Amino acid sequence: MTFSSIKISHQIREFEEKNAIEKKKHILSLISGYLKDEGLFQTAKCLSIEASVVNSYEVCDNIDLPTILREYESYYYARFQKYPKICKKVEFSVKEKDVNISRKKNGRKITSREATDCIVNNVKDSQGNKNLTYEVKEVKSVHDELSAGLTVQPVNLNNTPKVKTSNECEDFEENGKFLKPLDGINGFCSEWKEFAECISKEICVRNPNVQWNDIIGLQEAKKLLKEAVVYPIKYPELFSGILAPWKGLLLYGPPGTGKTLLAKAVATKCKTTFFNISASSIVSKWRGDSEKLVRVLFELARYHAPSTIFLDEIDAVASHRDGSGEHEGSKRLKAELLIQLDGLLHSNDKVFLLATSNLPWELDTAILRRLEKRILVDLPSPDARKCMFQHYLPPVTLNTPNLECDLNYNHLAQITEGYSGSDIKLVCKETVMEAMRSVFSVLENYDDEASFPKLELKKIITDDVEQALKRTKPSAAHVEIKYKKWQKEFGSV
Ligand code: ADP
Repeated sequence: MTFSSIKISHQIREFEEKNAIEKKKHILSLISGYLKDEGLFQTAKCLSIEASVVNSYEVCDNIDLPTILREYESYYYARFQKYPKICKKVEFSVKEKDVNISRKKNGRKITSREATDCIVNNVKDSQGNKNLTYEVKEVKSVHDELSAGLTVQPVNLNNTPKVKTSNECEDFEENGKFLKPLDGINGFCSEWKEFAECISKEICVRNPNVQWNDIIGLQEAKKLLKEAVVYPIKYPELFSGILAPWKGLLLYGPPGTGKTLLAKAVATKCKTTFFNISASSIVSKWRGDSEKLVRVLFELARYHAPSTIFLDEIDAVASHRDGSGEHEGSKRLKAELLIQLDGLLHSNDKVFLLATSNLPWELDTAILRRLEKRILVDLPSPDARKCMFQHYLPPVTLNTPNLECDLNYNHLAQITEGYSGSDIKLVCKETVMEAMRSVFSVLENYDDEASFPKLELKKIITDDVEQALKRTKPSAAHVEIKYKKWQKEFGSV
């Protein structure tokens, strides 16, 4: 090596070292600025003394730690389709047996990193074969949460990637869903941002917590929904080519039969961004601007993909009317919906439209064609009605006051043909309310809460429910035939 090349490499090293020192200074200045912004002046002072941060530096107003964090989150999401988790290294215990099992499950050799974190026992079995067993050091498990909204989880010391349970894979994150910051979308006008912020409020960030088992009956609808929405997200590799997932699905049927409940179960089970939009509110709130709102809605759904747009009562925005009498705004809105649905059908965007309608025959045929899968959510069968009565009026309810029921559930199921799920719920409520009325009249005679007598409700019998049935008429019995007819012509099932 010549003298000049030694000199150059020395200069490069010097430059790199200087650069690293400079970077450290910047980071410390940013932290110091952040602490001051947060009013933590003592801590900032300590930092500046300890780290010799020069106070004469001011952090530029276009850069601060929250911005850097947001940008990092956007970048991370774009790269890995998930949000970064800031992990705190804590030590925890794993029973020796568990470690061995996980080794077997993972079927791989221990890494050098793991070797430092484990006590490796080299033992021989009865046949003299060498066996390695591993013990992970120390005991303690800490789950913590940073105020920045980032989840802090213990890092597994043995560094094995955490295998998700099926529940974790399917369900919402326990603390709700993190949303990608909107700052990641650039180049849009303030009106667009206003719409985007408005729609963002309709995104379900909380787990609606409706399980498939909470929905009584509707086995066929549940099966089809799982196939159409849940499995393609859970097992994407199986859904390609001819099995490419549906882009639009319509749940139709009489009111109160559980369409919204089904959509909530989808939201619970899928880790997609769930936009819960009521079509009638688009029209009423955004009259005139509705088509812009629809465009922004689909753009946002693509931005937050994988996404599910749940459009309740789609007939409110997509009904067919004879051209002459139709409002100009409504035509524009429908045209935009068609454009967006076409866009979905011809793209690989992971956006799915789940729509519901009580009046499918009112739907515009062009829109209907784009809702490829149409599932009838029918009135409950006798078995489902029996389960509903058992669910809402079980033999004993430990409440205040306790409620006892002695009911002929089979008989009630037989006499409630034509009642929807929500009708049956209403009948049950009405029955209990009737029993409560006698309690209310007793309570009204007491002025002092302390002297209230022990409340006891009379046992509810089948006749009580029959009385309530007389007062609650089925809301959709007369139209059932119409749905069946429409199903034959246009439905998928
Ligand atoms: P839809 O969207 O079809 O009009 P919803 O899903 O909003 O009906 O149902 C209204 C209410 O009726 C639900 O909140 C639920 O209490 C009850 N309900 C309807 N169908 C069912 C069902 N299959 N299982 C359990 N509850 C039901």
